Amino acid sequence: MSDKSEFFITRDQNIYEVVIGLEVHAQVTSNSKLFSSSSTKFGAEPNTQVSLVDAAFPGMLPVINEFCVKQAIKTGIGLKAKINNKSVFDRKNYFYADLPQGYQISQYKYPIVGEGMVTLDMPEGQKKVGIERLHLEQDAGKSIHDIDPNSTLVDLNRSGVALMEIVSKPDLRSPDEVNSYIKKLRSIMRYLGTCDGNMQEGSLRADVNVSVRKKGSKDLGTRCEIKNVNSIKFMQMAIIYEANRQVDLIEDGKKIDQETRLFDTKKNETRSMRSKEDAHDYRYFPDPDLLPLEIDDEYINKIKLEIPELPDEKKKRFIDKFNLTPYEATILVSDIETSKYFEEVIKDSDVKLSTNWITGELFALLNEKGLDISDSPISSKNLSKLVNFIKDGTISGKIAKTIFEIMAEKDEDPEKIINEKGLKQESNPEELEKLIDQILNDNQDKVTEYKSGKDKLFGFFVGQAMKVSGGKANPKLLNEILKTKLTK
Ligand code: ADP
Ligand code: MG
Repeated sequence: MSDKSEFFITRDQNIYEVVIGLEVHAQVTSNSKLFSSSSTKFGAEPNTQVSLVDAAFPGMLPVINEFCVKQAIKTGIGLKAKINNKSVFDRKNYFYADLPQGYQISQYKYPIVGEGMVTLDMPEGQKKVGIERLHLEQDAGKSIHDIDPNSTLVDLNRSGVALMEIVSKPDLRSPDEVNSYIKKLRSIMRYLGTCDGNMQEGSLRADVNVSVRKKGSKDLGTRCEIKNVNSIKFMQMAIIYEANRQVDLIEDGKKIDQETRLFDTKKNETRSMRSKEDAHDYRYFPDPDLLPLEIDDEYINKIKLEIPELPDEKKKRFIDKFNLTPYEATILVSDIETSKYFEEVIKDSDVKLSTNWITGELFALLNEKGLDISDSPISSKNLSKLVNFIKDGTISGKIAKTIFEIMAEKDEDPEKIINEKGLKQESNPEELEKLIDQILNDNQDKVTEYKSGKDKLFGFFVGQAMKVSGGKANPKLLNEILKTKLTK
């Protein structure tokens, strides 16, 4: 399934609609954990980044990492949300082998960030999705079931890493909107540098809440929560499966149990895990080891000054200032590195032409090589030069493609390539005239045919001239001269 998914509810999609709310877990970009100084670096040997706090040795005390708090506030500002002056860390009690404390330190009644808003750019227009809250919490360790056939192994490297749980309102209505929402969240957090959004490494994953209801109904249906889905594609597949399952149940006169389900990616189905636990099952209470978090407005305002221009604002500026279409602006701002690259290229080059080359040739090249724009084989400086050579007529668009291919292998100055390979466009009218005279002379029969009405032969002459010039004849000039000569 690509970005564009088709959503079908088996029985009748004109009767039902699906309602979705996401709890996104975003790993905070930080060097050390939320309450300890252990490293958060991904990919280390198991259990090499575990302090006594992370392993929950008796008597150990958590100490809050101010940087993580700042990251959460930044993210809150990026979500246009209210930052709460007071928030509280609670213990969420449950037992699991990869949770040595026997509880997770999280925030419940008093989260650090309150209500906010994310704007989605859907093909049919913009759509606002409400944010319920964002809270800080610890990640758990990782249970590994597939190394030893007789036991489960536990890696505590992740234990205690800071997560932001971003809870949306039940405002999403389709797998496409979910795709767009996750990408927008990721884009905002990457702009802010608060979460790298790397889904393969588990830095961004979500619990997906799904319910269905009759269209036009104001009441929400009973939801099921699909736990810990770590790719957009799987989220979309899980939603489609789950919506169909619920509609089938309703149509069969059965009721939906509120439960927690797992998505089996191999079978493409969701399976019941447990009936949904209620908050009181966790026996939440304020962690006595941690004071409430008090943040004054001065602190928040100082952080506000560090917030860069975010995708929505950048998009608006690109449209207003550079005359880009909303579509072009959306793709150029979706990733901060792309927007930087674009702005570097257009510093001294034509905007329209640069946009076409970036979204066309360059994106195709990066796609083919599986590279991010920050690793682009062609630097913004050299692409800008190439665009200028096209614009001022030094080279044709066709020759530019040849040069682009050479640059893709080795990031070389296009000027050097043009000179070395003698690719400069022939724009000297006298030289072109000579060349055309030669061709007309060699093909007098065709000239007669052309003059007697066979207009199509014009293309033949152009082709010949291009061939003889090695593709270097300036096409505009060539056309002009040819026309004058042939009408004589
Ligand atoms: P819990 O911890 O019990 O899952 P949260 O408040 O953390 O509760 O998250 C609830 C999530 O479920 C939110 O994202 C909310 O938008 C979503 N949600 C609530 N009711 C429904 C519903 N009827 N259908 C779909 N999603 C829902
Ligand atoms: Mg939940």
